[in-house]
Amino acid sequence: MGQLRIPGPTPCPPEVLQAMAWQMINHRGPEFGEMLHDVTAKLKQLFQTKNDLYLLTCSGTGGLEAAIVNTLSPGDKVLSVTVGAFGDRFTSMAEVFGAEVIPVRAEWGKAADPDEIRRALQKEPGIKAVMITHNETSTGVTNDLATISAVVKEFDKLLLVDAVSSIGSIDLPVDKWRCDVTVTASQKGWMVPPGMAMVSVSKEAWQAHAKARMPRFHWDFARAQKYLEIGQTPWTPAVSIVFALSVALDMMLKEGLSNIFARHARVGQAAREGIKSLGLSLFADEKYASDTVTAVSVKDGLDVKEMLKILREEYQIVLAGGQQSLQGKIFRIGHLGLITEEDIKEILSALREVLPRASS
Ligand code: PLP
Repeated sequence: MGQLRIPGPTPCPPEVLQAMAWQMINHRGPEFGEMLHDVTAKLKQLFQTKNDLYLLTCSGTGGLEAAIVNTLSPGDKVLSVTVGAFGDRFTSMAEVFGAEVIPVRAEWGKAADPDEIRRALQKEPGIKAVMITHNETSTGVTNDLATISAVVKEFDKLLLVDAVSSIGSIDLPVDKWRCDVTVTASQKGWMVPPGMAMVSVSKEAWQAHAKARMPRFHWDFARAQKYLEIGQTPWTPAVSIVFALSVALDMMLKEGLSNIFARHARVGQAAREGIKSLGLSLFADEKYASDTVTAVSVKDGLDVKEMLKILREEYQIVLAGGQQSLQGKIFRIGHLGLITEEDIKEILSALREVLPRASS
């Protein structure tokens, strides 16, 4: 059996795929309204939040843009904590909309340092918000968001979190960690095809929204709220993704949050141990290694392109390469959503055969 093991899109269970084939319904009718309310309530359970939550028809990037334009004004100072390609993208987005961005960067493969964030906040009292990637998919690092959030809240700043590849797979209690806007996307640990971002919005984020002056229309949370009250979305939603989510969320709640997190922790551990047993090394600082994606350093002499090709063509296993400066230097195994330790074992045994063939 083949395996798609990139860090999203992820494989979908057959029940979820069947839901994608359901006949269309009126997105302004009662049946859809009921489903939208039900999906929103279930997502709140999985986000561990009582905050507002919206479905936005877009990929994760749209949700991140929404986080920015709904809470900030041009000229606002923001601290952007970046530890990889997705953190850099979040940083650029805020710049494009006119924020004055102060980046706090960590070397790729390392996690963000809470003390450095504290020092940056002390140095720049005018900062309005802190932006951070919880799980940096490009490097396989999970930041210590509990500690970082405590630092951010010492200074009473807004916290905008890219949780695209973490929430729903690894623990991120939104209310406990006081995340003001938290963003994820359907194609990650949710076991649903791409097409929907899911975004939670705190009371403090709403206060910021009232003053925020960045241009917004499609992403305006106020419009999303107004329509949710009547069981709708402001614009035509990806109806089939809502169908799929309704099925996937039931499966996730049946498994239970703690079981989902424990499974990802076991799978992550199995991937890391297995990689080391093959004589390869982890790219990420192991203390912060992600339980949803493992980045593997490429050894001298290993042709990573060739390795990925053989895996894909002969084993029907699809892994991901490195992004940007990490191209050719790492490869990544996505292990979020529909995954077991058995799947990891199969990947490792394929790697055991393929590595010598792709090495000079
Ligand atoms: N942020 C992180 C951490 C991601 O992993 C991704 C996607 O891989 C994104 C943002 C961008 O999401 P999308 O490709 O859904 O727009």
